[in-house]
Amino acid sequence: MINKSHIKPKILVISGPTRERVDDARFISNYSSGKMGKCLVDVAVDLGFEVYVISGPVSFKYNKGSHVTNVETACEMLQHSLSIFSKVDIAICVAAVSDYRLKEPFIGKIKKDNQKDIVKFSCDLVKNPDILKTLSTNTSKKQVVVGFAAESENLSEYARQKLVSKGCDMICANCISNGQTFGSGISDITIFTKSDTLNLGKIQKIESAEKIINKACELYLEKIQSFQ
Ligand code: C5P
Repeated sequence: MINKSHIKPKILVISGPTRERVDDARFISNYSSGKMGKCLVDVAVDLGFEVYVISGPVSFKYNKGSHVTNVETACEMLQHSLSIFSKVDIAICVAAVSDYRLKEPFIGKIKKDNQKDIVKFSCDLVKNPDILKTLSTNTSKKQVVVGFAAESENLSEYARQKLVSKGCDMICANCISNGQTFGSGISDITIFTKSDTLNLGKIQKIESAEKIINKACELYLEKIQSFQ
């Protein structure tokens, strides 16, 4: 479908986990491997699209055909996303952004108390910016914004809610019950748009990535055609 249409949208993939500093030696993060983001980038580069990547720390290198910006925190991720967003036609937010960061990260390294087996630790956390929602509310009418949702239950209900609350064009809902998805090569994704639901089934992430890019391009085509 994509090749036949001869469209070459510019794509931004925001991927990987973020790290939020606790002290000089520690951070808050999550299990995201960035594999889904990598597959999306590979598919888009193979299709000859211009691809920008903003990524938190991952253990692999992104496709050489893409323009990569490495970031660590959610705030850095937002800042770079906003500066690149206006250059692209489709933005795909697959990053596992830390929901919170420390209000005041510790200076130096917190010392271990060798006298105690159990210690109490408390700190104030501040909500991180929502990158997907920020991009969705700053979008031009022709841009397509895609988000992800990792859900272990009520997948379709939560995904539909997210489509509305984030204000994006498409949500790729990932079933993560029984430890599925994180770090795995296989995903079980259902795509939700305002008018469509499409279950991709349990397939390799690279195959899911092809279908997601295809659907995003379809939405992009619909948008540009509605302006002609
Ligand atoms: O709100 P929740 O984390 O469930 O939403 C997931 C979607 O929102 C993903 O697309 C993720 O990349 C994006 N997100 C974001 N910024 C946040 C939190 C989530 O862009 N602070």
